[in-house]
Amino acid sequence: MTSFLTHRARVHDARLPLRRRHSALRTCITLFAPYGFRATYHHLTLSAAIPRRLEADPDALVRAVEELYEARVLWLARAEEYAAQRRAEKRAGRRAVVNPRPWWLRSWWEGPNRAWYEDPFRHPSLRLSEYVRRQNAILDGADLPGCPACGDERPLESSSTGHGWVELCRGCAWVLAPCPCGQRHRFVPETPFNWKGIWQRAHISDDGMPNPHCSAG
Ligand SMILES: [Zn+2]
Ligand SMILES: [Zn+2]
Repeated sequence: MTSFLTHRARVHDARLPLRRRHSALRTCITLFAPYGFRATYHHLTLSAAIPRRLEADPDALVRAVEELYEARVLWLARAEEYAAQRRAEKRAGRRAVVNPRPWWLRSWWEGPNRAWYEDPFRHPSLRLSEYVRRQNAILDGADLPGCPACGDERPLESSSTGHGWVELCRGCAWVLAPCPCGQRHRFVPETPFNWKGIWQRAHISDDGMPNPHCSAG
């Protein structure tokens, strides 16, 4: 449990080499990633404006880990509440998990957000805490307009599965209407992505702005 906080402290530690602080940020994302590991990292490179050359703005790593931390606090509070509620239900003899499953217990291959795992560029553009707040509100029964994940209200994007159609959110590729066959299909990125390039922030320039010469992103 303290692991996240230990690594968060390392990201903050200005005495450590930047590479180590960046790798501590990576560990934090492996421990908590609302958009999945790769998409959460991609999101943070943009929202915290992490430059390709870390030396250009060491504080960017701190901004990134703080955005993640802020969202984790909100999630943790809700997850603890859920765990307490489950314990009470079990004591009352109700062992079956109620539907819908809380958003953090969804498996990525069955979830409507599978695309975020298969294309790190397709994720909500919401700040992570906003996303968590939104998911918690939906879990508590709120009926929010637009895509459940990102609130996008534009017409849906139809994607062929070869034998049927899937309706996706135009913003984040969340599945709003699954394929009629009932299977959750793979999401195939429009342009194949290069994870190494994303990891090294090829899509960001040295001043932390999105790189205009990089089409992917
Ligand atoms: Zn969406
Ligand atoms: Zn199908």
